[in-house]
Amino acid sequence: MNALATVEPLVHARNVHKSFDQLEVLKGIDLDVAPGEVVVILGPSGSGKSTFLRCINHLEAINQGSIMVDGEQIGYRLRKGRLEKLSNNAIAAQRRKIGMVFQQFNLYPHMTALENIIEAPVGIHGESRKAATENALTLLERVGLSEKAGSYPRQLSGGQQQRVAIARALAIKPKLMLFDEPTSALDPELVGEVLSTMRDLASQGLTMIVVTHEIGFAREAADRVIFMDGGKVVEHGKPEDVLGNPQHQRTRSFLARFI
Ligand code: ADP
Ligand code: MG
Repeated sequence: MNALATVEPLVHARNVHKSFDQLEVLKGIDLDVAPGEVVVILGPSGSGKSTFLRCINHLEAINQGSIMVDGEQIGYRLRKGRLEKLSNNAIAAQRRKIGMVFQQFNLYPHMTALENIIEAPVGIHGESRKAATENALTLLERVGLSEKAGSYPRQLSGGQQQRVAIARALAIKPKLMLFDEPTSALDPELVGEVLSTMRDLASQGLTMIVVTHEIGFAREAADRVIFMDGGKVVEHGKPEDVLGNPQHQRTRSFLARFI
């Protein structure tokens, strides 16, 4: 193979701007994520981390710049030299490539773990119940919850519910997983089991963008760490560099909180 050959990035974001009315939240974000790469985004509250993830998933439309996922412009297509908004169906097809896990896992309370996982594949994507169930059981095994298929959310701990939520996000077989502070709502003793599941996924080659304050996870599992502040990427690089030898004062003062 040509030593200079580069892998096409799975995520290619350039000059992403996002405002809410007068408030400019993202001020020109650039990010490439290679297939299989794990990128951790750190940054203080209000720096735009969630907004950026939501833009990648087209839960928010951007005002300027571009976000490509798997070679496609998110939310738009180029037609006769102009960007045109995609139809809702086309956007849904793009979203199917992207799984998202939130701080609040929001499982359906009246459905078992298994039913929560097969809901989207069967209800939205038209998979057969049999195939979706087989896949869901495999996913439950992957997140260490084989024995909880028939349990309702109220019968599960917060950590177990979040692991079901991860399995649910994986059920659409996404190419990219976005995690937005997946352990921030958990009691401290339950954080470890969720991070351990995420570490397993990372080591299995899943492409992940993870917003978290778990510095230990960033150090061990990330290929790259991004530090965001005020709607910009202030610093990025290998975890050992950004965490061990930060170049910017803002990164230093942010990290000082965790020591
Ligand atoms: P972070 O995840 O880094 O804490 P957010 O992306 O949630 O930051 O928020 C960045 C800024 O954008 C905050 O000032 C927040 O209040 C504002 N913001 C986020 N979502 C909206 C919205 N839907 N409408 C108006 N302002 C918003
Ligand atoms: Mg946030």
